Amino acid sequence: MTEVRGADGSEVAGTTTGSGGVSYWYQEIGLPTPSDVLEDDADVDVAIVGAGYTGLWAAYYLATARPDLQVRMIEQRYVGYGASGRNGGWLTAAVTGGLDGYAKTHPRELVARFQQAMNASVDEVIAVTERERVDAEIRKGGTLMVARNPAQQERAAAATARARAWPELGHQWLSREEADERIRVAGTRSALWEPHCARVHPAKLAAGLGRVVRSLGVRIHEGTRAVEIAPRVVVTDRGTIRARHVLRATEGFTAAIPGQRRTWVPLNSSMIITEPLTDDMWEAIGWRHYDTLEDFSHVYSYAQRTLDNRIAIGGRGNPYRWASGIDIDGETPAGTIETLRRVLVSWFPPIRDVPLAHAWSGVLGVPRNWRATVAYDPHSGLGQAGGYVGTGVAAANLAGRTLADLVLGESTERTMLPWVDQRARRWEPEPLRWLGIQSLYRAYGWADRREFASARGTSRLARAADVVSGR
Ligand SMILES: Cc1cc2nc3c(=O)[nH]c(=O)nc-3n(C[C@H](O)[C@H](O)[C@H](O)COP(=O)(O)OP(=O)(O)OC[C@H]3O[C@@H](n4cnc5c(N)ncnc54)[C@H](O)[C@@H]3O)c2cc1C
Repeated sequence: MTEVRGADGSEVAGTTTGSGGVSYWYQEIGLPTPSDVLEDDADVDVAIVGAGYTGLWAAYYLATARPDLQVRMIEQRYVGYGASGRNGGWLTAAVTGGLDGYAKTHPRELVARFQQAMNASVDEVIAVTERERVDAEIRKGGTLMVARNPAQQERAAAATARARAWPELGHQWLSREEADERIRVAGTRSALWEPHCARVHPAKLAAGLGRVVRSLGVRIHEGTRAVEIAPRVVVTDRGTIRARHVLRATEGFTAAIPGQRRTWVPLNSSMIITEPLTDDMWEAIGWRHYDTLEDFSHVYSYAQRTLDNRIAIGGRGNPYRWASGIDIDGETPAGTIETLRRVLVSWFPPIRDVPLAHAWSGVLGVPRNWRATVAYDPHSGLGQAGGYVGTGVAAANLAGRTLADLVLGESTERTMLPWVDQRARRWEPEPLRWLGIQSLYRAYGWADRREFASARGTSRLARAADVVSGR
């Protein structure tokens, strides 16, 4: 075993094995070699750029509804190379941007239906993977959200009040004792628990979906990069595909596509994973089931228990790189790995000496209004979905199904949902974009530290940051 090294080559305390390499999940199942690289121009019904969950689900529902359609996917590297093969494995029903925000612009009943559709999407992913024999190691255990200082308790109380207005969320308030029954996180004062979340193995889900859509006759041209996406045509570095419908499913990579630089910014999220914990360690931290876990910090962290008894925990390291730059194959700075390790140890002091197995990073797409969208224009035949911020694993399923409905010209309960055809203004140009996002995360980080040091409620700086960001 070698030591984990950050992207700058520096050592990280108390760790073993590697960093980068796309993700631990892909290292575990083996990195694929790109296949079916585009060799000739083609004329098809539907072209989908991006073979992450969004593109794969859109292809799946199109191919199952209309086996006669010719569907081609264009993927610059291989299936699941992006966030879909790197994420924290929360198959969560969370609505990006929150229900209250949507209730300001849409009827309450419609917003409630959106939440119900997201809840059902978690079960849809479980049902389809079972039916199609994709073993993505899914376990539905809900989510525990712990409050560990007075300010976090204040936000937990506000979330509890909100839950009364939105019973679809299924949130339940837990006392410290009740929370400890689920997972013993140091310093927990109270918690919320909600049932609509499962843990998954992200790369197994992506690779499995890839196998399924290929078996349905969809061709996935890996190792093929789209350099222009326009009505009825995708120009790639290997040839041109003409199609009646062209769908963009490039999420955090969208800014690199000509004409899309300011549509969604790529925000970075990083993860670490431990070596397997011993039975005594699990006993000490009392994490008995497969609840996913987060806290009420502003710069929150998220964790899951894997089937082979590791903890994978993620959070924002350096949230944004100048001019929408992205990591190289998941390489992660040593400072970020150390920050995540500190969060892990502060949650679970009894496992402070557990070695880390791996660290990696990826990008997620963030629209200026922090709300995801599914859109399709029947005149140009162009569609896209994404901007899920950090909650896209289940949302991509609903988005893919909705894109399929829209392409097929069907009006369904999904095509009525409030995220369809959401429009957000473009992000500010540089240097404003870089300065704004860096300052925002600095403010949130400062507020988190301050809230632990004081007995008061949510920091005023964090409230101001919420107003500025439009979160
Ligand atoms: C570290 C991390 C942790 C996360 N944790 C969670 C979580 O626990 N739960 C949750 O719900 N969400 C999580 N997310 C977000 C979630 O993973 C994403 O929202 C989701 O995977 C997006 O899927 P996608 O298919 O839209 O995009 P992606 O999976 O990013 O796929 C886009 C694909 O497009 C390809 N592509 C891009 N440009 C081109 C081009 N020009 N030509 C050809 N191909 C191109 C890319 O190679 C990529 O494969 C996390 C994200 C990250 C980075």
